[in-house]
Amino acid sequence: MAKVAVLGAGFVGLSAAYWLMRDGHQVTIYDPAGVAGGASYGNAGTFASYACIPVNNPSVFRDLPRFMLSPDSPFRLRWRYLPQLAPWLVRFLQSSTERRYVASAGALSVLLSRAHDGYREMIEHADLERFIRRSECLYLYSGAAAFRASEPTLSLRRSLGVDFSIVSREQVQQLEPQLSPLFDRGVLFSGSWFLSDPEAFLKTLAAWLMQAGLRMENCAVNNIKPQSNGVLLETAAGSAAHDYVAVCAGAHSGGFARQCGDRIPLDTERGYHIMYPGSSNLISRPVGWAERGFYMTPMAHGIRVAGTVELAGLNPHKHQGLLDLLQFSSKRALPALTTPTESWLGFRPSLPDGLPVMGRSRASARVIYAFGHQHIGLTLGGLSGAVVADLVAGRSSPFDLAPYAPDRFN
Ligand SMILES: Cc1cc2nc3c(=O)[nH]c(=O)nc-3n(C[C@H](O)[C@H](O)[C@H](O)COP(=O)(O)OP(=O)(O)OC[C@H]3O[C@@H](n4cnc5c(N)ncnc54)[C@H](O)[C@@H]3O)c2cc1C
Repeated sequence: MAKVAVLGAGFVGLSAAYWLMRDGHQVTIYDPAGVAGGASYGNAGTFASYACIPVNNPSVFRDLPRFMLSPDSPFRLRWRYLPQLAPWLVRFLQSSTERRYVASAGALSVLLSRAHDGYREMIEHADLERFIRRSECLYLYSGAAAFRASEPTLSLRRSLGVDFSIVSREQVQQLEPQLSPLFDRGVLFSGSWFLSDPEAFLKTLAAWLMQAGLRMENCAVNNIKPQSNGVLLETAAGSAAHDYVAVCAGAHSGGFARQCGDRIPLDTERGYHIMYPGSSNLISRPVGWAERGFYMTPMAHGIRVAGTVELAGLNPHKHQGLLDLLQFSSKRALPALTTPTESWLGFRPSLPDGLPVMGRSRASARVIYAFGHQHIGLTLGGLSGAVVADLVAGRSSPFDLAPYAPDRFN
């Protein structure tokens, strides 16, 4: 049995705790924001096993200029952040060539095809089934041109084993009668599901793990210092020695990698949500409007409208224009929506090639990284936790971890 510290109590960190404790380790999670205080709180809640198309893909060369200039664009770049972002952006564009994008999609599909295995047992043991809604996600296209433009990515999905069906305008209306009739086509993804409340899912999991012996430390880790026989953590509350540390701090993980001498180009694709309370009965499944870059998900407390991408780093200032766009676009799609109450900004942890980092630090085999899950960290959390436990145990992984190696950018 080893003493393992996990940094971060989101989908990745709590799943790592689950799998590590299953191996009999003594686990302590450190997180200043508590359970689900990061991106894991406010996401769209979809288990998106179909989401193997990374943001870095050849269409960015065609769409990026329009995205940057159009007021309707779900994509924004804060120009003042450009000098800091430039190295990431260059790598992102390099990763958007046909060859590299197809390689990333293939590597994502390896993870996604196993993603449910990362959760199956956890859901049963921790009594989490009550948060799961087994309705397929529906992607919508409001114009024939947009649907045509998506056809190459649909073919790639199909060739990578994603099962889906294309539905007509009439079928969209039959599936979701409250939607306004502006959608030409839709795609229904088989095997996808969603969470009625991502925060409650994680809080229930954390409570169950704590009953089984998990320790939660509500404080930030400031430094990690690999030693010959373990890792020393410096926290706001003092120092603590552990045999292993798993860095699962999402978009905040980059500093820990730097402390260990690993150069990992982690940045953030910021995303937003607004919440329409008490309106969940208007739709029966997550509905995504492809061109507008958002989902509407019928959750326990109302419809959550989540999406957009803003490149502006980790500062806490919200972009009111993107929140307004979410409100405007969601009301266009679903006219019965009234007034949103909550607005939220979250930080997707993103690498330029769209793949997470999962592997050991160069400085020490006792420092393990699992972060950078961009748009699909809820989906991949369970599996990533299992990978962390395999790395601590020295077990070989059931799939090749090379595409996710921390040193792949060297
Ligand atoms: C708008 C939006 C919609 C999304 N929709 C979906 C979706 O439908 N499906 C999907 O699969 N994914 C979705 N995602 C992505 C998903 O939410 C993230 O990929 C996922 O939450 C990342 O989980 P994580 O555990 O790596 O990080 P986080 O949940 O961000 O957790 C990291 C934790 O680290 C903690 N931390 C920070 N600094 C320190 C420190 N110094 N010491 C200790 N702890 C620290 C933070 O407080 C935080 O709690 C969405 C994201 C956004 C923003």
